[in-house]
Amino acid sequence: MTKNLLKSIMIKPEPLPEDSFDTTEMVQKIQSGYLEGRGPKHTQKKTFAPSTIAYGHGECPRYWYLAFDGQTFEDNNDAYGVANMTAGTKSHDRIQDAMMASGIAEIFRDANDNPTTEFKIVNQDPPIFGYGDAMLNWQDEQIVGEIKTMMSEGFEYRKAKRKPKTGHLIQLLIYMKILKKSKGVLIYENKNNHELLVLPVTVNDHYRRWVDQAFDWMREVRRAWVDRTLPKKNYRANSKICKSCPVQKACASAGEGDLKVKSLESLDEEL
Ligand code: SF4
Repeated sequence: MTKNLLKSIMIKPEPLPEDSFDTTEMVQKIQSGYLEGRGPKHTQKKTFAPSTIAYGHGECPRYWYLAFDGQTFEDNNDAYGVANMTAGTKSHDRIQDAMMASGIAEIFRDANDNPTTEFKIVNQDPPIFGYGDAMLNWQDEQIVGEIKTMMSEGFEYRKAKRKPKTGHLIQLLIYMKILKKSKGVLIYENKNNHELLVLPVTVNDHYRRWVDQAFDWMREVRRAWVDRTLPKKNYRANSKICKSCPVQKACASAGEGDLKVKSLESLDEEL
């Protein structure tokens, strides 16, 4: 335990001054603002999303089938989850502004004609859509850049191991394949002090094989949806993956399913 942490735990809270007023519910009130306008929402996915595919339900063929049909998606985020996502989005904007100012990134135009480093990434077969964070010009080469923010502990771990998080790597590899680029970088920011860490990724045979089979898997899942053959469940109802799945209610009432499609293979980085 660090000295500062120990010190802060040991500080006894002072009693409020007598002329103070009650604020106990103020935090809850502000938190309710984060959740305003959220909640269950009907959504129909038209494409696979590389940012979803690497996590939990994103590897489930049944999830994508139901999502392509259109379902009521439950929002599992609490107020701090929403705050965390918003903080990530705002950090992206700040880092992208710095990339533009430094001249390292290609400049595109957003829907309102404002300059941005973000650009659309589209694939037809299988159907994939995502936004790339930046296309960097570095040492006479174009390099795909993906920005991620993380808490200090996670950041220090990545820094020591010099390895990106598997989900982040998967997202980048899918973008690199679609864009036909052999080099990419994961740009990590420490949320505590804004320190940057850039981890390089170069395509090798192991990554190529994994990403090729991931594209085949997406084609198989899409074909199952086109053919109206619902994939069977690959998990127990109380599994961690199903518990946080946004379409678990629709899944429970969708029936057993027609065919067995395996879940997306995980990327083993130890090879
Ligand atoms: S609840 Fe589980 S099996 Fe059903 S779609 Fe979601 S992840 Fe797949």
